[in-house]
Order: sequence, then structure tokens, then C-alpha cells
Amino acid sequence: MIFPLHSLFLLLTTMNNEQFMTLALKEASTSQNDLPIGAVLVCDDRVIAAASNQKERTSNPLNHAEKIVIEEGLKKIGDFRGKNIKLYVTLEPCPMCAAAIILSRINEVYFGAYDLLYGAFGSKINMSRIMNSKIKIQGGILENECSKILTNYFKQLREEEYGKPERTS
Ligand SMILES: [Zn+2]
Repeated sequence: MIFPLHSLFLLLTTMNNEQFMTLALKEASTSQNDLPIGAVLVCDDRVIAAASNQKERTSNPLNHAEKIVIEEGLKKIGDFRGKNIKLYVTLEPCPMCAAAIILSRINEVYFGAYDLLYGAFGSKINMSRIMNSKIKIQGGILENECSKILTNYFKQLREEEYGKPERTS
């Protein structure tokens, strides 16, 4: 069977940053009662682990999405050293996760929304500078979508707690 040239080209192209972030967003949407944050870990352009934030569900405050995909990835392929590893996460990592990302020798990290309160890749502090790391960092990938899933979550929480706002007119 002969493929037209353009479909062959599609077969050969790898997924781009937005497509990987879309997968991380899908993970975030499975967070249930946890803050909706999702992460995927990519090795040689293939997803090797995907997870959502699971702090509440597992009663473990350390179970951030990033930490879970790092541990899954290590179990699957062993030491990351010398491999081409990228992490995609919907929210800028906190100091714990940023340190874990650097320590596990991930090459590149891409995040969606900036976290002005706790973000540790530039917003609040810069862990790569503190730890003298050369990790490649890029924020703002599908930023609107990644922010929206969080603001919707908080809006829903408020409505559950205080009821829907009454119309004043
Ligand atoms: Zn974290």
C-alpha cells in the first residue's frame, strides 16, 4: 500500500509541546477532589508516565503529580542519566517538585500556568539557580487552559461551601 506523502510526514512527526500538555490536562481532569494538576513524563518523545495530583485521595501530602510521574518513570526505565527526559505539568512546580525534577536529572520541564505563590521555576523562587542546574525551563504552554481548570475548581468549591451567588437585581 502506498501512503500519500503528507500522511507519511504525519507519521514521522513527533508530538509537540502543546500536544503533551493536552495529555497533562487530561490527567488533571481526573483529579477528583484533589486540586486538578496533571503531569506526563516523556522519554525520547514517548509518554512513559502520567498522573494527577493525589494528595487528598492517598492522604499523602507529598503525592504531587510531578513526584508520582518521576517515581513511575524511574521504576519503568531506571536512572534518567544520559536519557532524553521531559516533564510536562499543568502548573508551575512547587519547591519540592522542582528539586525532585532537578535531582532526578530531567533535561527539560514545560509547565502551563504560572504559580505566583509557590512556583519554584521563576515565579516565587528559581530552584534551578539555587541548585545550580542547567535544566531547560519553559512556562506558559496552554496557559489559559491550565489556569482555567484551576479557577473552575476553586469556583466550584466556593459554590459548594457558600451556595451559588444570589442575583442582586
Ligand atoms: Zn509539587
